[in-house]
Amino acid sequence: MTQPQHYELLIRDGTVIDGTRAPRFTADVGVRAGQVAAIGDLSGHSADEIIDARGRIVAPGFIDAHTHDDEALLSQADMTFKLSQGVTTVIVGNCGISAAPLRPALDLPMPLTLLGLPPDRRFPSFAAYLKALRAAPSSVNVGALVGHSTLRVMTMAALDRAANGDEIRAMQAWVQEAMEAGALGLSAGTFYPPASHASTEEIIEVGRPLSAHKGLYVTHMRDESDKVLEALEETFRIGRELAIPVVISHHKAMGKPNFGKSAITLPFIRETMQHQCVALDCYPYDAGSTMIRSDRGMLEGRVLIASSTPHPECAGRELDAIAAEWQVSKEQAAQRLQPGSAIYFLMDENDVRRILAFDETMIGSDGIPVGDSPHPRLWGTFPRVLGHYSRDVGLFPLETAVWKMTGLTARNFGLQGRSTLKVGHHADVVVFDAATVRDTATYAAPAQAAAGIDCVIVNGVMAWRHGRHSGARSGQVLTRTPASAA
Ligand SMILES: [Zn+2]
Repeated sequence: MTQPQHYELLIRDGTVIDGTRAPRFTADVGVRAGQVAAIGDLSGHSADEIIDARGRIVAPGFIDAHTHDDEALLSQADMTFKLSQGVTTVIVGNCGISAAPLRPALDLPMPLTLLGLPPDRRFPSFAAYLKALRAAPSSVNVGALVGHSTLRVMTMAALDRAANGDEIRAMQAWVQEAMEAGALGLSAGTFYPPASHASTEEIIEVGRPLSAHKGLYVTHMRDESDKVLEALEETFRIGRELAIPVVISHHKAMGKPNFGKSAITLPFIRETMQHQCVALDCYPYDAGSTMIRSDRGMLEGRVLIASSTPHPECAGRELDAIAAEWQVSKEQAAQRLQPGSAIYFLMDENDVRRILAFDETMIGSDGIPVGDSPHPRLWGTFPRVLGHYSRDVGLFPLETAVWKMTGLTARNFGLQGRSTLKVGHHADVVVFDAATVRDTATYAAPAQAAAGIDCVIVNGVMAWRHGRHSGARSGQVLTRTPASAA
């Protein structure tokens, strides 16, 4: 260092884990004008605000690779459930459901209802949605996907069939519009009724505009249980035909007969990675959460109701108990509770650990920010990986845990200039205590901020400190930079 410098923020004597998987090192970090201005020995330098980070980890802010925060970014703009975990960027528009484009008069089927869009909030184009995000920034950055199910609802008269030529052309035009506006790619959710009748060919044709933009195809696959291998093959084929990267969302092996199957899916994914771009994410729990379904496969394990429009009083209760009280079958009770969301205990912990530990797996919460009894992953995903799985279980070193939520994710989503701590990068930073960081959100009490997160800085602005939101809303809209252009 030459002349002493002045910074807006100086994080002193921390242990830096830079998000590249490199070993930790001790350094000061200086922040100025929204950027990391210096990393090293900055003693003798001054700052408007100094943070003593002795004994603490200083890491890039985390990217939540898989969220349904599309509407929450606008209506819950402080984003406390994410910021309090150290998350500084969320990817929205997953599982085929995006907040845009939608017409005002449209009746939204499940699972589009999971977004919690009020009836008066409709964005006629993807550009209009991004404009709204820029006009009223939230406390975190956002990268957005356009959803195939949303496009089907927008363009098709009936959803119980594959799209015809005119409908495909209409959806293509919307994908083109979204990519030009700054979308990261297209998501699909053929697992869900609004898209389950879409053929592979429909998705490939709708996705045509992605090729020129090097947009991503992100998928909640058609099947995550008995036919998960076939679903992987379909995903890889879509990626190959469009010559684009694919992201497998919340990879899992669901249902008892499929326990242990990740020992087959992961080698298949790794083998395919030799020939084409494949990424995947995972949440650190053995229960999933989605819309209330009444098919038997989904109801075979323990089911907790997270939210219900007709029966809000049932949130937080077991489906078994509700069915017994109403003297109906579980299927009938589930139907009466629709629309709503539920938590399903359908995974094997060994699969969860094997998928989390797979070196290419990113961390994504899949949290659903609706209702009072959400799955605890909404508030707990990132500290749970850092505290429970990395520190307590010893699944991987802390450097790997941080990489899975920063550098790896930024690379896969084409987000340049952030998510690794490097001079000149945007200053998204989290300071946490490796010894005490942990998730406190539980199934019984899910809305609980993490322990051990000291402060969270978004684009150089202090957003979370000492367990409190600063009120700052310095998040930005992030658009895709293809790796080839980097
Ligand atoms: Zn999903």
